[in-house]
Amino acid sequence: MTKYAIIGAGPAGMNAIETIRRVDSEGTITLVSDEDPYARMALPYYLADDIPREQLATGSDDYFAKLKVETRFGSRVSSLDTGARSLTFDDGESLAFEKLLIATGSSPARAPIPGVDGANVHTLWTRADADAVLAGAGGDKPSVVLIGAGFIGLIVLNAMYKRGWRLTLIERETRILPRMLDRRGADAAEAWMRDRDIAVHTGCNVTEISGDERKRLALSNGTVIEADQVIVSTGIRPNLEFLDGADIERSADGVLLVDAHCESSVPGIYAAGDVAAGPNVLGGVKATHAIQTTAVDHGRVAGANMAGAEVEYDGSLAMNILDVAGLHMASFGEWSDDSDVTEVWAPARPVYRKLVWRGNRLAGAILIGPIEDTTMLTDVGMVKGLVQAQTDLASWKSYLQEKPWDLRRPYVASGTAAALLKRTVEGRPATPRGYTHEGRQPPNQRSPYHSDLVDTRPEGFENLPRTPTPGIYKS
Ligand SMILES: Cc1cc2nc3c(=O)[nH]c(=O)nc-3n(C[C@H](O)[C@H](O)[C@H](O)COP(=O)(O)OP(=O)(O)OC[C@H]3O[C@@H](n4cnc5c(N)ncnc54)[C@H](O)[C@@H]3O)c2cc1C
Repeated sequence: MTKYAIIGAGPAGMNAIETIRRVDSEGTITLVSDEDPYARMALPYYLADDIPREQLATGSDDYFAKLKVETRFGSRVSSLDTGARSLTFDDGESLAFEKLLIATGSSPARAPIPGVDGANVHTLWTRADADAVLAGAGGDKPSVVLIGAGFIGLIVLNAMYKRGWRLTLIERETRILPRMLDRRGADAAEAWMRDRDIAVHTGCNVTEISGDERKRLALSNGTVIEADQVIVSTGIRPNLEFLDGADIERSADGVLLVDAHCESSVPGIYAAGDVAAGPNVLGGVKATHAIQTTAVDHGRVAGANMAGAEVEYDGSLAMNILDVAGLHMASFGEWSDDSDVTEVWAPARPVYRKLVWRGNRLAGAILIGPIEDTTMLTDVGMVKGLVQAQTDLASWKSYLQEKPWDLRRPYVASGTAAALLKRTVEGRPATPRGYTHEGRQPPNQRSPYHSDLVDTRPEGFENLPRTPTPGIYKS
């Protein structure tokens, strides 16, 4: 009987235990995490009051009992002995293992600003952080300053926007979303936010945060801003302190280097999710894509290999999809490469589409447009598919250069859907996760725009806001 240990009950760890159990019904599985399991990426929905707090949970006693998983929640791993194959916990106890998965995720890194640890200055990474921000709001509509305009920062900002809070965004770089959008996309998003009363300051630092209840923020451009709460979203660092001194290969950024089995340099020790740098679907050097989808894939690949079912990972894809105040934004892969691109730009809407070519294949893309534009949601999926499958589009490349709006024909004709359907992470079709909140599945909410694809138009369809004829967007 194999003894498995998993550290971290985020999406990587949870998908690993489910996969191990599908392959090995006998081995003992111990899941250790300093938090009980909940969905970090659902925190914005809780913050926005879209879902109740209980629905953040991703596992229950019942669920773990069914999977025959022993849990150790509220416990931190303080060291790993790779030679003796044992873990030590912060209470001094230890656990021996044969196969280990490190899936400890990341934590927010607070920029070194004087006053950044003061009252009413938060990060928004954990459920406790979200509780603290909501408690601080006290049912009112507080003014909040968000420091850092990255992907996570803007997800959080959008949740607060839905609550009607008064918002200011500060970004040190000269544009927002510097690791997700190019200059044109970022400027369009910034203008959209300003039009919706979100104050945006770019190209400046916060030099000091002062005040107790009411906060005062001094900016490097001389501006002083007052606010009820401050949220700091200035980057992340991997939770790997317990590896200090351990003989295991790490990247220059400090994350664990893993192969296509998600196995680290130490046989039998695997890593997954935010703490791992593994194969990139676009090739090149190993990459860390600190997003939910990579954590899920890594967890499944690691779990299968730990249990003895040999599975090779194709690689993760850099991908960010975001909604801020009704503007949809998505970017994939090598979106910043400008050597061979097809672009559509309609500033008034705004609509922006950038397809990045590598030969006849799509290496990346940016898509931006108002949420009610029907093509946005479906095109996002097709573009992601074309990048992920690395379809050779052959003559469809020139078609797309001519008609960048018409993704459906190249997508279907090139067999991309079929190629993607054949691909599976574990060599078998995925099955839905076993866990349901209080036995209930979430309702299936279908967008009214779904009708556009399947031609079953709902009542009042004619009155829905529409995108004008795509052709007029050609620059
Ligand atoms: C507000 C927010 C919104 C997000 N939205 C999105 C989104 O829309 N799309 C998307 O793709 N991604 C999103 N993400 C990112 C996504 O949630 C992470 O990439 C994902 O959770 C990483 O999964 P993981 O399993 O690697 O780690 P985690 O989910 O971080 O889980 C790791 C667990 O291990 C525990 N742990 C750490 N160290 C130890 C230790 N020494 N001992 C014991 N336990 C330990 C941690 O406390 C944590 O509970 C969001 C993140 C945040 C914070």
